[in-house]
Amino acid sequence: LGFTAGHSAAQRRAEKDFLAAIDPAQAKELNTTMSSRPQLIGTEGNRVAGEYALGKLREWGLPARHVRYSVYGSVAKDIKVEVTAPTKRTLSVKEKPYPGQKYLDEAVVGYNAYSPAGDVTGQVVYVNYGLPEDYQHLASLGVDVRGKIVLARYGGSFRGVKSKVAQEHGAKGVIIYSDPKDDGFVRGPVYPDGPWRPADSIQRGSVQYIFEYPGDPLTPGEPSVPGTERIDPEDADNLPRIPTTPISYGEAQHLLRALGGPAVPANWQGGLDFPYHVGPGPTEARLDLDIEYQQLPVDNIITEIKGRGRPDEKVIIGAHRDAWTYGSVDNTSGWTSALQIAYGISRLLKTGWRPERTIVIAGWDGEEYGLLGSTEWVEQLAPELRRGAVAYLNMDGTAGRSFGASSVPALDDVITDVTKVVPDPEKGTVYANWTAQGAPVPTRLGSGSDYTAFLDRLGVPSADLGFDSPGGNYHSTIDDPQNLERFVDPGSRYQSVSAQTTGLVGLRLAQADVIPLNYSDYARETLTYLAAAGKRGVDVTAATKAAQDWLRATEKLESTRDKLLRDKSFGGRDGLDRLNRSVLAQERALTRSEGLPDRAWYRHQIYAPGTYTGYAVKVLPGVNEPLDQNDTATATQWLKLLTKSLESATRSADC
Ligand code: GLU
Ligand code: CA
Ligand code: ZN
Ligand code: ZN
Repeated sequence: LGFTAGHSAAQRRAEKDFLAAIDPAQAKELNTTMSSRPQLIGTEGNRVAGEYALGKLREWGLPARHVRYSVYGSVAKDIKVEVTAPTKRTLSVKEKPYPGQKYLDEAVVGYNAYSPAGDVTGQVVYVNYGLPEDYQHLASLGVDVRGKIVLARYGGSFRGVKSKVAQEHGAKGVIIYSDPKDDGFVRGPVYPDGPWRPADSIQRGSVQYIFEYPGDPLTPGEPSVPGTERIDPEDADNLPRIPTTPISYGEAQHLLRALGGPAVPANWQGGLDFPYHVGPGPTEARLDLDIEYQQLPVDNIITEIKGRGRPDEKVIIGAHRDAWTYGSVDNTSGWTSALQIAYGISRLLKTGWRPERTIVIAGWDGEEYGLLGSTEWVEQLAPELRRGAVAYLNMDGTAGRSFGASSVPALDDVITDVTKVVPDPEKGTVYANWTAQGAPVPTRLGSGSDYTAFLDRLGVPSADLGFDSPGGNYHSTIDDPQNLERFVDPGSRYQSVSAQTTGLVGLRLAQADVIPLNYSDYARETLTYLAAAGKRGVDVTAATKAAQDWLRATEKLESTRDKLLRDKSFGGRDGLDRLNRSVLAQERALTRSEGLPDRAWYRHQIYAPGTYTGYAVKVLPGVNEPLDQNDTATATQWLKLLTKSLESATRSADC
């Protein structure tokens, strides 16, 4: 796809050499070395692992460097959670030591980044997942959470959404716990007997409102470099406003067991061995969170391999390198795969091969706090990325056995083609692995990882590729090298398969005569989104016509491409250049500087994270979110913007 006959033989050779250079033993060594010590942003373990990766890249002959920012962020000083009634008890905010763990005293206690500091006491109300509909149900039971501390279980939405929804309903604090039904003993044997979450395991995590904007709370839309003016934290719309903290189910049971009030509906019952009640009280809790705010160092590691033919066009491959604790899965696995891609490319370079377009390989810092490193980098390089970024390929979790892909529709074909040629150690091919789990079609991108600024802010076609890890010790100290080796990715095979898969997608995007992005697929899918919106009481006639025009224009673009590729004399290098420019302009056209309703940082008009889901995608967000609130006027206004986007994409498709 995208290669002239003359170039496809060379590409096949390069792909074969690249695949052969990827070695699981190397992955195991990289991962174990970096993740044997906690790697949270701003810590010594993070610094040491960064120097190690940089040293490796340089040893392989690649030009790697630090790219640093200074970002406003939280540091946990003393996190106290207590049951104050009916029986006093201090709850633990740490896991116990597990076999083989080193530097455990450096691991941060269970806490939620960007929670405000505070000391609050109140009656407890159990709110299930803390979704808007859960509060509706509480209201129907006559339970009001105003002035209460809500106890929510993890799942169903991004944790920052839970804090926000609780605050909107008047709660004064939030405790989030991992219920054993969702990722503990109800699912299977717990660590160290199996991969599921034991009673003391705590899911840390950021509660930054990434659905408002990610990155430095004080520099929305601008890079956190010297000279950028910082806004007042009071005005930072992505900062949560009530104390929020996580605990384990071993500790949560001391809050839940004594709760009175109405019984929960059947689907709110979790896995602990007593019937849950919603409260309020008689259980009371105190959250005493000593959290300090300061400027934190964010240290991305960037390698840029200049393209020979089209150096201004860039294919960017990235993975976050920071972790809540050891992070052997999340995300030393993805960063290991990224480093293996760099190594594979370094081997090709030794044979005299050169990339056509520039390839950037990035290890992002501070993802766990709120996509800090990737967001600031994108905000800093926005003008050049808007001009030349071809695609962004993200890896966040590449250790596991089940392949998963999310992307924009334009990338579906190249991803699918690649999965058919990359071998899978158990299933034959990555495609067979993918098929074993259902339809082998990428899902669409919401948020929760580093593709967010690329896609949602700039309109860079993006994908997130990897393998899902079995088990439930996400963001706990158990995400360590022993757990990785025993239960997740023995021998680091799938981290290597990920390097091969994402690497090949990157190499095709970097080398193709015509960038292999298919926007007719995108137009067709957009038409289905519009048809669905049309059933919700807005007039989608103009937008639908614009999408149909876009479909025709992209089909024409693709047939011109096929002619050019078959017969280069048809348009020559000029023809290819024009075509590539048209393809590059497509995704960019889907962004508008007006942004989305009440969240202007988000500019993409087709995809955004849902304001009330955080991780999950909302399609046509400017239309569908207002409709969720019965606000037809705003939906209609954004339909006009969407129409303009589609018209602008159609104009750019003409070459
Ligand atoms: N992926 C991380 C998480 O889900 C970071 C998301 C964020 O806060 O930006 O916790
Ligand atoms: Ca910023
Ligand atoms: Zn991650
Ligand atoms: Zn994470």
